[in-house]
Amino acid sequence: AAQPLTGRIAVVTGASSGIGAATARALSARGARVALLARRADRLDGLVAELGDRALAVPTDVADPDAIGRAAARIADELGRVDLVVNNAGVMLAAPFEDRRTDDWHRMIDINVTGAIRVADAFLADLIATAAEGRPADLIDISSVAAHGTFPSFAVYCATKAALTHFSRNLRAELAPRRVRVTNIEPGLVATELQGHVDHPDVNAVIDDWRDTLTWLSDADLGDLIAHVAGLPWHVNLPHIVAMPTEQV
Ligand code: NDP
Repeated sequence: AAQPLTGRIAVVTGASSGIGAATARALSARGARVALLARRADRLDGLVAELGDRALAVPTDVADPDAIGRAAARIADELGRVDLVVNNAGVMLAAPFEDRRTDDWHRMIDINVTGAIRVADAFLADLIATAAEGRPADLIDISSVAAHGTFPSFAVYCATKAALTHFSRNLRAELAPRRVRVTNIEPGLVATELQGHVDHPDVNAVIDDWRDTLTWLSDADLGDLIAHVAGLPWHVNLPHIVAMPTEQV
């Protein structure tokens, strides 16, 4: 059975909205202390006001390696050794490929892939040291069903998620003997701000159709799942989880 998370020290990227904010709530409710990383400091402060002194706002752009280093140093000072990392920050800037939105391609790669790799790197030593003491140490990567599915106008986003899923799979193989638990979660449709950044009318029409025809997951559904995974006994690993709305095929 899943255990309480009392005493755990968590880092959640993309904690200013959606799945990340819901994950911070769920981890905190089960007793963890949580560092909240994202760019919008006002949102992070709002979440700290809600969660109290178990939460720490650390405004951070995960596309900036120096900012990740500064965040890790501050977390070490103020919370101590991290034993749970949720790599959740991401953007989905969908448009037909022939629109040649090269800046958006780079942003997705920098945040969804390189940012996640750098965050894993920043806390790896903490996870290994925790696991060596026989305590749970988790890296949880939030990928997407886009890692496997085909979605016209989402090619670069899908490619970033495929890269993240394969990174998780391979890092798990490397870290399993060290008892660091790596979990890759691939959600289907979750109602968040993610879709709000799409500005192409044809793509928005597709998203509206998905919204009209099926009941999406909520951010809290994902937060509860992530807290459950983190609370499993250390020797139990669900390496790859696909979390779908029941009606989505
Ligand atoms: P939201 O847009 O609500 O959340 C995205 C989060 O990422 C925000 O907190 C945002 O914060 C943060 N973020 C974006 N860019 C950066 C950056 N450069 N540095 C730090 N943080 C950043 O969407 P979701 O909650 O849906 O998305 C969370 C994850 O879930 C993403 O990786 C997404 O791909 C994945 N996912 C979502 C699905 C869905 O249907 N919603 C389905 C499958 C996967 P800020 O802007 O303040 O920096």
